[in-house]
Amino acid sequence: MPFSHDMVYSLATVVDLINTGAGERDGLAEVGDLEEFVRRREVSGVGVVTRRDLAEVQALREEFHAVFTAPDQPTAVTLLNTLLQRTRITPHLAEHDGHPLHVHYFAPGSSVAEHLAADCGVALAHVLVENERDRLRTCAAPDCSHVFVDESRNRSRVYCDSRTCGNRMHVAAYRARRRDAS
Ligand SMILES: [Zn+2]
Ligand SMILES: [Zn+2]
Repeated sequence: MPFSHDMVYSLATVVDLINTGAGERDGLAEVGDLEEFVRRREVSGVGVVTRRDLAEVQALREEFHAVFTAPDQPTAVTLLNTLLQRTRITPHLAEHDGHPLHVHYFAPGSSVAEHLAADCGVALAHVLVENERDRLRTCAAPDCSHVFVDESRNRSRVYCDSRTCGNRMHVAAYRARRRDAS
C-alpha cells in the first residue's frame, strides 16, 4: 500500500464505520454504540456524544458507503467532493494514544461526524488520487456485505476476513466438490 500509517488507520476507521451498518444488528443504533466506536477507533478530541451526533454519523456512514462502492472513479470523485465541500479541514500535527506523530485533518471544535468526514474523507481522497480505488472492496461471500481495503500486494483478496468468511467459503467449496464427487 502506498499510504502512510495514519492513512491506513483512517481507512480502517472508515471500513469499521461502514461495517457497523452491514451486520444483522445496526452497530450504530444507539448513542452508546457511537461512544464505543469513538473509543475503539481512538477518535480524539470528542466530548459528550449526543443523539444528534449519532444521526449525523449514521448519515455519513451512508455517504462513505456510496463512495466505497461507487461503480466507477468519476462517481466516487463526485460523491467524495460533495462530502469534502461541506467539511472544514485544518491540518495539524498530533501525537496521542501511543501513536507516533501524524497529521489530523479535522478542524478545532469539530463534531464526531465532522472529524470522521475530514480524516476519513482525506484518506479516501488519497486512495482515488493514487488510482487505488480497486482496493476498496465488498466481501465476495454471498451472505456478507462487509467492506474491506485489500492491502495485498497482488490485489487478490476477495473476503472481508480470511478467518471467518474466507474459511466459511472454502469449507462450502470443499463440501460442494465432495458432493459432486460422490
Ligand atoms: Zn490521531
Ligand atoms: Zn465477509
